[in-house]
Amino acid sequence: MSVSEFIAPASLGDALGIKNELGTEARVIAGGTDLILRMRDNVLSPTTLIDLRRLSVNDIAFSDDGLILGAFVSLSQVLESADIENYFPALPAACREFAGPPIRNRGTLGGNIVNASPAADLVPPLIAYDASIVLSSSSGERVLPLMEFFVGPGKSVIEPNEILTEIRLPPLAVRSAATFIKLGKRRSMAIAQVNLTTRLSVDQAGVVKEARIVLGSVAPTVMRAVNAEEFLTGKALSNDLLSEAAKKTREAVTPISDVRGSRSYRLEMTEVLVRRALSATCNKLQGTVSDG
Ligand SMILES: Cc1cc2nc3c(=O)[nH]c(=O)nc-3n(C[C@H](O)[C@H](O)[C@H](O)COP(=O)(O)OP(=O)(O)OC[C@H]3O[C@@H](n4cnc5c(N)ncnc54)[C@H](O)[C@@H]3O)c2cc1C
Repeated sequence: MSVSEFIAPASLGDALGIKNELGTEARVIAGGTDLILRMRDNVLSPTTLIDLRRLSVNDIAFSDDGLILGAFVSLSQVLESADIENYFPALPAACREFAGPPIRNRGTLGGNIVNASPAADLVPPLIAYDASIVLSSSSGERVLPLMEFFVGPGKSVIEPNEILTEIRLPPLAVRSAATFIKLGKRRSMAIAQVNLTTRLSVDQAGVVKEARIVLGSVAPTVMRAVNAEEFLTGKALSNDLLSEAAKKTREAVTPISDVRGSRSYRLEMTEVLVRRALSATCNKLQGTVSDG
């Protein structure tokens, strides 16, 4: 592991200029909880590290237009935010299940996204909340749905000259609720065998207006079970409906067997956990729908 330069630029423009010149030779270091391990193992060998902590890229801004998170917001910052807990609770729920306090203090949202792990814990809640991301370069910004960022394990559409600068969550409809569940081999410091977030938005009569079922560790990238989401949409909530949606989710996932669990175990647990998450989500919605 040999890095020739560690730069803390005075502005984002300066950082983007360095990325423009050096491409993947220069890597952004956020918390370093992934990057340093990969450099130690010679998976990545950047010559230059760019540290943006001097810049205000770790702000949290909440308004009627939704939530804007700087890419360098740490997991601990998410856990300290009352607005995020009130309006986007599946995100702090994922943070609480993530590693332990030292990693949560250093690890960032942007690092978890750019790492592009199919098991990344923060990605299912962010996609369930319809997050979009801002990728900045010397030539400007592009905004894309987070769902379109990932193309394979460890692979994304980020260009060598780009830095992820922001994550944006639109405001939620009234009568919306979401649930995050993670299954690991132990209760903490575990990479997920399956992780998922369900979100439901319903009308006053309890008919599903919008459904999101987003899963990690069961496909080459974090994925949405669109077949199950479409099945739920337009229907009144019932136990049978939730069970059928969970079955449909099982049909959509394509897990592999690895050191953390077999394919058949992951298939089985996908159905069980999606059923459980949908049921918990419905319970949270109770009281927001009328009986008549
Ligand atoms: C002990 C341990 C436990 C862990 N537990 C979990 C867990 O439970 N769940 C989980 O999902 N992950 C876990 N991780 C993985 C890791 O902590 C997370 O992925 C974390 O969110 C990475 O964030 P970071 O800020 O440390 O990223 P870094 O290591 O700094 O960066 C990761 C990668 O993203 C790039 N990058 C970072 N920020 C940007 C940006 N803004 N723009 C462009 N590129 C960028 C870096 O160049 C690097 O390639 C664990 C890691 C360790 C060591």
